[in-house]
Amino acid sequence: MTGTPLLDDLRAALGDDGVLTDPDLLRGYQRDEADLCVAGMPAVVTRPRNTAEVVAVVQTAARYGVPVVPQGARTGLAGAANAVDGAVVLSTAAMAEILEIDPVNRIAVVQPGVVNAVLAGEVGKLGLRYPPDPGSWESSTIGGNVSTNAGGMCCVKYGVTTEYVLGLEVVLASGEVLRTGRRTAKGVAGYDLTRLFVGSEGTLGVITEITVALRPAPEESLTLVAVFPSTAAAGTAVAEISARGLTPSLLELLDQTHLRAIEAHQPMGLRTDARALLLAASDTGPRAAADLERLAEVCEAAGADEVFAATDQIEAAALLQARRMAHPAMERFAAEAFPGGNGGLIIDDVAVPRGSLAALLDGVERIAEECGVAIGVVGHAGDGNMHPNIVVDRADPASVERGRRAFDEIMRLALAMGGTCTGEHGVGLLKREWLAQEIGPVGVRVHQAIKAALDPTGLFNPGKIL
Ligand SMILES: Cc1cc2nc3c(=O)[nH]c(=O)nc-3n(C[C@H](O)[C@H](O)[C@H](O)COP(=O)(O)OP(=O)(O)OC[C@H]3O[C@@H](n4cnc5c(N)ncnc54)[C@H](O)[C@@H]3O)c2cc1C
Repeated sequence: MTGTPLLDDLRAALGDDGVLTDPDLLRGYQRDEADLCVAGMPAVVTRPRNTAEVVAVVQTAARYGVPVVPQGARTGLAGAANAVDGAVVLSTAAMAEILEIDPVNRIAVVQPGVVNAVLAGEVGKLGLRYPPDPGSWESSTIGGNVSTNAGGMCCVKYGVTTEYVLGLEVVLASGEVLRTGRRTAKGVAGYDLTRLFVGSEGTLGVITEITVALRPAPEESLTLVAVFPSTAAAGTAVAEISARGLTPSLLELLDQTHLRAIEAHQPMGLRTDARALLLAASDTGPRAAADLERLAEVCEAAGADEVFAATDQIEAAALLQARRMAHPAMERFAAEAFPGGNGGLIIDDVAVPRGSLAALLDGVERIAEECGVAIGVVGHAGDGNMHPNIVVDRADPASVERGRRAFDEIMRLALAMGGTCTGEHGVGLLKREWLAQEIGPVGVRVHQAIKAALDPTGLFNPGKIL
């Protein structure tokens, strides 16, 4: 079958299997998981299998002046993977091979479409661990995680994706293949180009291979639950945990809205009368019980109504599962909050210094009241990274407008506290103006100069980040 010259050239390079044009299929590649972000209709979806095929897609698109939108699993929450009209979507779904696991050097080399949980499972069989664990780990890809610099629950102790990316292979807008970084434990040669591409959200090149650092599997862990009379009291406990030099391997906050949404989605026996719940863990093996006692003391001193340890690993896993369910449960809660299932979520992702967490949580409550919207709060409290989820009626422009005002007010508050507009989800379409506010005119100019140097014609993922 022939189509336009663009499609003919793509089929010649990838074969019919690697080129999708059926409008029903294309619709499935229009957007990521972010609600209320614009998304165009791509001209074509390509599914290259290797670096040479990625080069062919990039060179073909460049020849016809058509933008390229890289996509992993489209679980992003900022619209960064959304298509633009007429674009070539470059899906990494067919590049899902683990190329190497090297236990001696504690590294793995993977194609970008490898799913996070698949890599974690494979290295786990060798007594190793790939720590970054976004809530989407069972579906999101390592390429997407690297491109958004994804966080997760264990980041409070182990750090975010960038701490684990040693080297990359990247197809540039010119069609050249750049290799960055190293396989060695140390290495400081030249500018740190690896970190430049981490978090670049598909705007600088297509990542085709990733070398990640692995860690030994953690020791056994114990889990604690603390129930608070307010979100701010839970925030105070988090600041105090940090001040006392404690290093939990997990420190997550769920507010009452989320606890109720999760229970409605799937009953888990959570305390829905609690205003806030902190979930903490320590993975220090024989020392974990003593760590838990110290965490419990801090929570009680901060005003917790109840503090208890999970009785066994099964209960601990169930609590973790409840936390992972927060996003789908809240989506359902929002949908059902308005007639016709029209409710949606505008998801904030601010991070503030831990000492300001309680004030942020108080501020979010005030903003919800002032703007007349419901806001549920969940997040990686130990990192000061909160997701205020703003519930709006998508069918009512006034409700959406109130939600957007609340979103902006939360951004303003977090930046005023010395925080950031995005702790882990990235800028995408959702936070472009807030990035500019955060980094200022000089920061914007430097971003633009880097983009112009690597992608002078604006081939990659137009309209994202800047
Ligand atoms: C239920 C749920 C829970 C989540 N929990 C977390 C969490 O705890 N922490 C967190 O950080 N995020 C979380 N997220 C957001 C999301 O899962 C992450 O941003 C994830 O890293 C996106 O990966 P992906 O494969 O879906 O990438 P996509 O959404 O497809 O793409 C994300 C960005 O990466 C670019 N990209 C993808 N692959 C490549 C490549 N090979 N080369 C260049 N650019 C590329 C895209 O253009 C886009 O800009 C969650 C999302 C959901 C739905």
